[in-house]
Amino acid sequence: MAIVQGEEINFSYDEEGPRVLHDVSFTIERGKWIAIVGHNGSGKSTLAKLMIGLYLPTDGSLKMFGEDYTEENVWNIRERIGVVFQNPDNQFVGTTVQDDVAFSLENRGVPYEEMRERVMEVLRQVSMDQFLDAEPHHLSGGQKQRVAIAGAIALHPELLILDEATSMLDPQGREDVMRTVTELKETTDVTVISITHDLEEVLLADEVLVMNEGKLLFQTTPEEMFRHGKQLEEIGLDLPFTLRLANLLEREEINVAHELTEEKLVEQLWT
Ligand code: ADP
Repeated sequence: MAIVQGEEINFSYDEEGPRVLHDVSFTIERGKWIAIVGHNGSGKSTLAKLMIGLYLPTDGSLKMFGEDYTEENVWNIRERIGVVFQNPDNQFVGTTVQDDVAFSLENRGVPYEEMRERVMEVLRQVSMDQFLDAEPHHLSGGQKQRVAIAGAIALHPELLILDEATSMLDPQGREDVMRTVTELKETTDVTVISITHDLEEVLLADEVLVMNEGKLLFQTTPEEMFRHGKQLEEIGLDLPFTLRLANLLEREEINVAHELTEEKLVEQLWT
């Protein structure tokens, strides 16, 4: 079943302002991991804002769990979605890790015992259960984002949206967050939408939406997407190193053992 269905979505922030989404149509099936990629300003975050009901499409339709957003159902739909944003420092409300994760549950009136259990459960899921009493601001970037994910999944959302959640992290933090999401996908039936401009991350997803200048270029599998390597480079996306290497070897028909000097490799890959 489609959990998100966009049909010919057009969107402008202001009535007189430029259109930032053009005829965007796509389907996201329940239980999948979908990556949305595109250069800065291609409309990825705008799409996420529409999905969480911050704005309505100017034209076309966006159905979440089979429903269009209306004033009446906006909170019911939002309850079913967890969101993690880009900046790990902007999303903490608690003074300790466990208080922070408990916050949304407390707000929802979850009884104390159940709340404690759920906090432990989700912190275990993101491998942060050793940090119950740590102050969030003292954690590394990757640890902060894992705590933010724990907070987002504590309410058992059906859909988890990661909006550039790894873009401020170092490689280790990025890898830890991606591993956490992979494990979450393996152990729960949550649907994940990860917005990124890092094509390495796309490899983990089931499907990819490639955005450029407010248009959806294609919705496809990661494997298929990388067959459009040249097109991806043209729209400003950096291919993963391994793929550039593979393309180079194919293009140049280089015999690795005899002809590929270090200078040649550097020259071809970074110029
Ligand atoms: P991305 O997430 O791919 O970087 P965005 O969705 O943030 O792209 O931006 C798409 C376009 O919408 C850009 O041209 C950006 O300048 C514009 N935009 C984003 N937010 C706003 C806003 N609040 N008001 C007006 N224009 C905006």
